[in-house]
Amino acid sequence: MARTEALPVLLRQLRLSAMAQLWEPLLDLCEEERWDPAQYLAALCEHELNERQSRRIARFTKESHLPIGKTLSTFDFSQTPEIRPEKIEALTRNSDWVKRAENLLFFGPSGVGKTHLAAAISHGLIEQSIRVRHFTTTALVQEMQQARADLRLENFLAKLDKYEVIVLDDLGYVKKSEAETHVLFELIAHRYETGSIIITSNQPFGEWDKIFTDPSMTVAAIDRVVHHATIIEIAADSYRKRQAISHNCKSRLEPAITPKKRKKEE
Ligand code: ADP
Ligand code: MG
Repeated sequence: MARTEALPVLLRQLRLSAMAQLWEPLLDLCEEERWDPAQYLAALCEHELNERQSRRIARFTKESHLPIGKTLSTFDFSQTPEIRPEKIEALTRNSDWVKRAENLLFFGPSGVGKTHLAAAISHGLIEQSIRVRHFTTTALVQEMQQARADLRLENFLAKLDKYEVIVLDDLGYVKKSEAETHVLFELIAHRYETGSIIITSNQPFGEWDKIFTDPSMTVAAIDRVVHHATIIEIAADSYRKRQAISHNCKSRLEPAITPKKRKKEE
């Protein structure tokens, strides 16, 4: 009896909060169904592990700053015939490429789903307890430049090491000055063969000299980024544009249909 009274305290001291919550109701079930004590203990441990896993995923999702709702289940692959869904699913479910610190690059015009796919894969990786941090490249460059001005760029880059995957969204959106090029290159060099980068860009490599001002730096950056990388190019028409066209068509058709319908009803 005395031992049972101590149990919730012991469980809390051991930081087994899920077990502390469940031990009593599960004990009733255990007695009702005449479980073995080992069976009872195993069920409690399993519950603790599951709770921890879901708390971890929630924590990783929050710290990732990924766009919410951009998952594989909300991506319509019929709109991008050049992408094999199995390839994207494999990159999402099998995280070996992250363990090998490889990169993933999405190229294509604006609105074709690059950011959506990068986020969908990242969400899938988080489910496997991989830490991801999504950045809009422009915002990250600004942060890095500030860090450099405060003489803490090295520290800033080291802090990013805890993320196995960094998403650089929209690299190439605007032309970079020499100082901006420099910090971006430092990030790429810092993560080379130690951590993965997912890049989305509307400019193919051939046009990267428009992003990075220094040509030798551009070549070195491309070399490092593609050394171990999967490259996915999306050439499809913009999803947004197609949605707008189909919406427009519908609204143009509707007035033609409605009067007929009305006549029938009369
Ligand atoms: P990009 O990064 O290539 O400019 P986004 O990923 O931001 O494009 O896509 C623009 C919008 O269209 C987003 O809201 C995205 O969720 C949606 N979208 C794009 N392609 C698809 C698709 N194939 N299925 C579902 N939604 C899509
Ligand atoms: Mg984008």
